[in-house]
Formats: sequence, structure tokens, C-alpha cells
Amino acid sequence: MDYFPIFLKLQDADCLVVGGGDVALRKVRLLKAAGARLTVVAPEVTEELAMMAQRGELQWRAGLFTDDMVSGMRLVIAATDQRVVNQQVSQVAQQHNIPVNVVDDPEISTYITPAIIDRSPLVIAVSSGGSVPVLARLVRARLESIIPAGFGLLAAFSARFRERVKARFADVEARRTFWESVLEGPVAEAVMNGREAVACEEMEKRLASAEDSPSGAVYLVGAGPGNPDLLTFRALRLMQQADVVLHDKLVAPELLELVRRDAERIYVGKARANHTLPQEDINQLMVRLAKSGKRVLRLKGGDPFTFGRGGEEIETLAEHNIPFEVVPGITSANGAASYAGIPLTHRDHAQSVTFVTGHKKDGSIDLDWPALTRPDQTVVVYMGLTMAAELCAAFIAHGKPADTPAAVIEWATTPRQRTLSGTLQTLPTLISSYGVASPALIIVGSVVSLADKLAWFRRVENGPATMPDLQQK
Ligand code: SAH
Repeated sequence: MDYFPIFLKLQDADCLVVGGGDVALRKVRLLKAAGARLTVVAPEVTEELAMMAQRGELQWRAGLFTDDMVSGMRLVIAATDQRVVNQQVSQVAQQHNIPVNVVDDPEISTYITPAIIDRSPLVIAVSSGGSVPVLARLVRARLESIIPAGFGLLAAFSARFRERVKARFADVEARRTFWESVLEGPVAEAVMNGREAVACEEMEKRLASAEDSPSGAVYLVGAGPGNPDLLTFRALRLMQQADVVLHDKLVAPELLELVRRDAERIYVGKARANHTLPQEDINQLMVRLAKSGKRVLRLKGGDPFTFGRGGEEIETLAEHNIPFEVVPGITSANGAASYAGIPLTHRDHAQSVTFVTGHKKDGSIDLDWPALTRPDQTVVVYMGLTMAAELCAAFIAHGKPADTPAAVIEWATTPRQRTLSGTLQTLPTLISSYGVASPALIIVGSVVSLADKLAWFRRVENGPATMPDLQQK
């Protein structure tokens, strides 16, 4: 280790920044965030620094650096573009044993500033020892993405209970287990979601109960349309904490890979004709698991509240007073539209978009056709594949021109994605000739024609009205 990391207390400590440009400004901002009392020395400063001086947030000594300026300083930063000046600052500071950093010049610095991830009071500092600052910044970017924005809230919340937890659990090991279950459970999720009252209540309950039995919870999480990159940070975090995962067919194996290794996995999938577990059984299973103290992850394809029966599932939880949270996911219509290059709305084509399901509980199609066939709109049909022929015929029968562009997108957003585009008239034949299978979405409306230009993920396979090239497939 070439450098010893420490966290300096700078509240109301005098610090000196030599230089008045953008580099100096960045350092000033950081020092200010740590509560330092700042003096900036430079003949000229940027507008923002000048304004800060005007507002009394720092003292600007307009002029050149002189040796006496370092006296009484806790920390010195040289940020001028003159190496001679920087050297002089460094030398004088070192004579006075004051830590000095010369920006981008570790050789004449006695300390270096790290890349910082700030979730105050939690702060993470990353350093490459001054050798490859870009690398430290890359690490920082990675950490920024995996450490929830709410971690600061969580740290502050936990600090408030620290003494009481200590009093409640004399044993260090018991205390550690308690904190682990708090920081990786419903309490933490509630805090990070800004539901502090709920979190406090749960903490009080757990501190009051004789033995520490963590209460379970259910997270109804949207896993997006299939591409793991399209998960939300929150979904990923909950996947890595869960004790049990209930998943169905739409959740791709690549996504399940991201679930905590030792979590129990239960397949509750519903293929259309082959019901693995009736909905009511799934609901009861979740209640039972949560009541036994498990963190249950109900992972759903797309978005749980879009044709996902999410509402039905949590109704039962609510009736049993089981804590639950819902995490939205990218619904397949949005995923498919983006990846197929079909904007769902467009000022020249569609002022509105409607999501419908082509499949009712009893197997019939019962849609509001006068509304769906109005011009200037896009219609996305979920679960419409088996009824594609009937659907397209109904669009036409209710007045939509037969040459209205229509597309089917299979396995949207995944490497298996296929887009077939044609018209209301040709689409059913395209679907059967190319053997399109579930999961697939149908998009109807003139926006579909834009895919010719905008498809970036996969080539659009244009289906002509008569399909002379089918043989080539
Ligand atoms: N809650 C899910 C929808 C579940 S209904 C969501 O928000 O996306 C199941 C239907 O979603 C499938 O029949 C299909 O029409 C559609 N679907 C889901 N994932 C898809 C994908 N990757 N590509 C195309 N369609 C998909």
C-alpha cells in the first residue's frame, strides 16, 4: 500500500486552495461539502468562485501566492496551471508539515484525493495511488451503480438505533445478525423508499419482541422483457437478497442467474394451456413463505402491473397484513418497441397508444373495436399470437384499412428477437409461415413503417403481401 487512507475531519478547519480555475473550483466544492473554511488565492477566479466569495462562502485573496499564506492551514491544495507555483506551494506546505496535494501531480503531493462515492454518512473513497486516476473513476462509476441512492438514508436511520440495539443485544454476534437482517430486509427497503414511519414501526416491534424473529416480506418485482441489462437497480438488489424466488416462464434463465445462489427457486409458471399452479395456490404459497420469515421475491416478466396479475397477487398479501413492495419493470411493449425501432407515438403517426390483451380468461376476443380502429393511434396486443388471424380480421372488419402496417416481435430485447412486419392483411400468414412462437407482441399502426429506418437491434424482415422469398428462409 503506497498510501494510507484516512477520512479527515474538516468542519470549520482552514484550508487553502491556490488557483482560481475549473480545477480549483472542483476541489473547492468538495472541501465545502466537508464543511471546510476556505481561502482561495488567485489573481483571477471563475465566475462561480467569484460568486461564492461574494456570498461569503469562501475568502478570495486576489493576488499571487506568498509563503506566509499556508500558516494555520489544515490542508493545502495547489491547482494552478504553473508548475513552478505548484512546486513552491508544495515546498512551503511541507516545511510546515501541512498535507498538500498538487492536482494531477502525485510526485510533489503528500496526499492524493480519491474518487468519492458519497452516500453520507456512508462515504467510499477509491484510489489508484495517483497512477491511473481514470481507473479509480471507472471503479467509482461501477460502485455508484450498485450502491443504492438511498444508502445514505439507511446509514443515518441505522445510526439512530445504534445505542438501543446495543442495549438490546449484549452479545456481539447476536447484534451482528440483527443488523444484517435489518440492513438486508424489509426495514432497509422501506427506509430507502422513503417510508421511514413504516421502518420505525418495524424496528420498534423487533426491538420489543423477546426473541429476534425477522418478519418476512414479499417483493413483487418486474424483471423486464428478458434482457438482463434492462433490469432496474432495485430489482437486481432484491434478487440478490431473496430467500425464495417464485418465477414463471417469462423470466429468462439469464435473469435467474442473477438471483442469490442459495435462494430457493420455485417455478410457478403458467403456460397458457398448462397451468402449473393455480393463481390461488400461488397467492397462498407467498403468504405461507412470508409468514415463516422469508424474503419472498415474486419475479414477473415485464412489468408486474401490466397484464401480470400483479394486482391479484398482492391483494391476498394485503388481506393477511404481509408487508410487500412492488418494483416496476420495463413492460414488453416498451422493450419491443425500442428494440424493433417502432416508436409507439410519433407526431406524424400516432397521438396515443393502447395496450390490449388478445386473450381473455374464457378464450374469446372482446375488445372495444370502435376505439381501437380510430386513426392516429398505435395498438399493442399482448398474448395475441394464437388469435392473430382473428384479431387482424376484426381490425379490418371494424374499418381499419387492410394495408395498415402491423408487426410481430418475438422474444423482444433478447438475442433471439425477430421482427416480422407486414400489414393487417399479411401478418397472420407471416406469423404462421415463419413459425413465430410465444412470447410475441403484435403492434398495429403506421408507426410500424418507421422500423425500416429505425430498427437498430435486428434487421426487420419485411413480409411482402405475397411472399415469394419465403422459400429462402
Ligand atoms: N407483465 C408482462 C406481460 C405478461 S403477459 C409485461 O409487462 O410485459 C405475457 C405476454 O407478454 C406474452 O404473451 C407476450 O405477448 C408478451 N411478452 C412478454 N415478454 C415478451 C418478449 N420478450 N417479447 C415479446 N413479447 C413478450
